[in-house]
Amino acid sequence: MSTVTRQTFNEVMVPNYQPAAMVPVRGEGARFWDQQGREYIDLAGGIAVNSLGHANPKLVAALTEQATKLWHVSNVMTNEPALRLAKKLTQATFADRVFFCNSGAEANEAAFKLARLWGNKQAAGKNEIISFTNAFHGRTLFTVTVGGTPKYSQGFEPLPGNITHLPFNDLAALEAAMSSNTCAVVMEPVQGEGGVTPATAEFAKGVRALCDKHNALLIFDEVQTGNGRCGDLYAYMGMGVTPDVMTTAKGLGGGFPIGAMLTTAAYAETLAFGTHGSTYGGNPLACAVAEAVFDEITGSEVMANVLARGAQLRAGLDAIGKRYGIVDASRGKGLLVGAPMSAAWKGRAKDVVNAGLAQGVWCLVAGPDVLRFAPPLNITEAEVAAGLQHLDAACAELCAQPQAVNA
Ligand SMILES: *Cc1c(COP(=O)(O)O)cnc(C)c1O
Repeated sequence: MSTVTRQTFNEVMVPNYQPAAMVPVRGEGARFWDQQGREYIDLAGGIAVNSLGHANPKLVAALTEQATKLWHVSNVMTNEPALRLAKKLTQATFADRVFFCNSGAEANEAAFKLARLWGNKQAAGKNEIISFTNAFHGRTLFTVTVGGTPKYSQGFEPLPGNITHLPFNDLAALEAAMSSNTCAVVMEPVQGEGGVTPATAEFAKGVRALCDKHNALLIFDEVQTGNGRCGDLYAYMGMGVTPDVMTTAKGLGGGFPIGAMLTTAAYAETLAFGTHGSTYGGNPLACAVAEAVFDEITGSEVMANVLARGAQLRAGLDAIGKRYGIVDASRGKGLLVGAPMSAAWKGRAKDVVNAGLAQGVWCLVAGPDVLRFAPPLNITEAEVAAGLQHLDAACAELCAQPQAVNA
């Protein structure tokens, strides 16, 4: 076997990513190790994906058992793991029907296509999609255009049309913009990539009411917030608002690629035979793992742990913020936590992430101005404490040389 290192990335990979200097090779729970055997506490969870940690024995068992039976059949046939998972998801949520795919972007692509197909059938011209500034919905051309970060779609023109962006948590702006031509409004219960910004309860309820008034679909993008991340199975459950369409991915497979779009029986009729599809969607391996994730999240202490560890993490971050003045008060829901950089440290969230890795903790950014944390939902109290300790050391290190880092 030839040796590969971080340097190999620059030689053989498209440069659209800039991965960290170390290369992880093995993980267990909320810890992983790099090529040199250095240990890291995982407060990132593979960007809110590794919901039950690395190499979880129950997920390994589900995957290996299915691997000896049936890997793939396409959607020319259905399969037992997909049917079992769809049954569980529909029983546990508002939804009656599921479309499986392989990622968050694909789940949203399906939701947006459903909304367009549905709206265009309702009335000529009813095809406007409204979304929000700083929203993130994926990187396909349609989803990146619906997303609220213009720089992600710049240069890829021509873009899909009739998409309107409004400020998040601004009900008056939505009320003014919405009309009978709106076919859907899409929002994240907590904007993840955009800065860990929760929707206010008043906003979410207002969006629901306006969708009802204008006969538009309310789409909740729960790719990041779903599957226990925010302390409910899906975040909408804790908000007193029920969407018409919901998308999910990330934590759904606990690290195995899978996405899903869920909706009611009536709206599902829109995606009639032949209107949409995916070769791998509903793949037996992915669905078997996702079923094990679902069983573990719904049938155990995991969700209570999410709330307890979320509170512990936020208290620790707030203490670090007070000690070093690097971050202001934390925010978020459950184990989706953000810490905005203080005025003095604006734009330097990435510096903290890099300093953290040097100390043995992995956390994320949500834009240049917010530190983000999305650890495994079953992370232990001791692991959170260890992660915070490493982060504290990283901040101390940064404060010792505040000017040098950005130079
Ligand atoms: C990550 C994310 C997506 C995109 O998911 P992919 O699996 O990367 O395509 C979409 N929406 C939200 C809210 C996300 O956090």
